[in-house]
Amino acid sequence: MSSPHPPLFPTLVAGPDLPALRFGTRSLTYAELAATAGSVATSIGSASRVALWATPTLETAVGVVAALLAGVPVVPLNPKTGERELGHIVADSAPSVVLAAPGDELPAPLRVLERTDITLTGSVTATAVPEPDPESPALIVYTSGTTGPPKGAVLPRRALAATLDALEDAWQWTSDDVLVHGLPLFHVHGLILGILGPLRRGGSVRHLGRFSIEGVRRELSDGATMLFGVPTMYHRIAEALPTDPGLAKALSGARLLVSGSAALPVHDHERIAAATGRRVIERYGMTETLMNTSVRADGEPRAGTVGVPLGGVELRFVDEAGAETSDRQEVGEIEVRGPNLFTEYLNRPDATAAAFTADGWFRTGDMAVRDDDGYVRIVGRKATDLIKSGGYKIGAGEIENALLEHPGVREAAVTGEPDDDLGERIVAWIVPTDPEQPPAEGDLADHVAAQLAPHKRPRAVRFLAELPRNDMGKIMKRSLHA
Ligand code: ATP
Ligand code: MG
Repeated sequence: MSSPHPPLFPTLVAGPDLPALRFGTRSLTYAELAATAGSVATSIGSASRVALWATPTLETAVGVVAALLAGVPVVPLNPKTGERELGHIVADSAPSVVLAAPGDELPAPLRVLERTDITLTGSVTATAVPEPDPESPALIVYTSGTTGPPKGAVLPRRALAATLDALEDAWQWTSDDVLVHGLPLFHVHGLILGILGPLRRGGSVRHLGRFSIEGVRRELSDGATMLFGVPTMYHRIAEALPTDPGLAKALSGARLLVSGSAALPVHDHERIAAATGRRVIERYGMTETLMNTSVRADGEPRAGTVGVPLGGVELRFVDEAGAETSDRQEVGEIEVRGPNLFTEYLNRPDATAAAFTADGWFRTGDMAVRDDDGYVRIVGRKATDLIKSGGYKIGAGEIENALLEHPGVREAAVTGEPDDDLGERIVAWIVPTDPEQPPAEGDLADHVAAQLAPHKRPRAVRFLAELPRNDMGKIMKRSLHA
């Protein structure tokens, strides 16, 4: 049966003997992927919705491709999720089948579901399955839970295609690109950009299983062209570079180094640029919107900015009353419109309605300013990163960046706390470079005041052994309180 819709994976339909996926020593060509994923697709064809036990393995990649080929919405699950939250997600998303690698032991909430093993021996061709309607749901991805309990964002095929094609344009992404991938496979970054992106382009992926400096050095020295990472990975790279000339050489040869999921500290960006001559490109997206902006491969890379709107994506910046800001330097909330958007939060009509304005723009909850030429600079999240102190609206991000420049600071997070005089006072949470000799509080405050402005000085400094972070390395600010 032929389909009126173009396939999400044109190269998979053609199925050439070219590399598609490699995880450690195991790999699949497009022909093999078409056959294995085609077989799994056939066995789940009648399911209403499938859950996917998303370990960082070849099976997970095959499982998601199979679900997309079958036109069955797939819910990727983080294997580190506790049973209680997993129970919520299973009840919320109501899959009829769970896909897992043979031998994987599943926790109780998943054992009640019918199980289909993802085996790599199938032989059904993917062309047998017609391409579903672009508006039909492809994935239900739960948000990272940084600011509250995760919500299931329903992502249609149209949004996947739109975002991946906009990135093709922005990054000059081709079938010759080979991606080094060390991210988990249950969120947009690792799964949609990192697996489906190369497969839509007809390029290939080498997944490290787990991120390691050694793996990045090896793959970039051996023909890989792109690296996708979260800021904690680039931080580790920045720390390793001074004593690892092989890493510096490997990174210098890469075509594209991309960071996203959270803000890349300027300090790490600059250290990597100094050691490699390469500037990391930042892109900004959300589970609900997929990608919104990026520094373009043919644009001017700049520290501390997430670049310009991607093709087809409209952004506007609004004040607290919802009016568009006229001054680019005024901090405004980013609102988005475009073919990259989700359709709804699953089972949450209340949250879905609250997330959109009356005229159909999605409220991101992210606050930003713009450079004169339109480059977007995110200053933080409205809920946790915007501190109202002494009549000023202050973004936590710039204070964090300033603190990170201090030699005594390894990691920094800034929050606001209620204060009788100021409304809110600025609090700095610091992981010191040397725990035996943490920097003096007054020193840190003076450093910020000198770099930024006196009213941005932290009023309290608290030292920690590490910052609370989730699986994507995002700082969980809601767990930072006195
Ligand atoms: P939850 O919505 O459950 O609280 P979350 O917002 O962290 O969690 P995601 O959808 O994974 O879940 O993350 C999207 C958010 O990540 C954005 O709203 C933004 O705050 C942040 N983000 C993503 N990329 C960047 C970037 N390049 N710079 C700064 N922030 C970023
Ligand atoms: Mg969010």
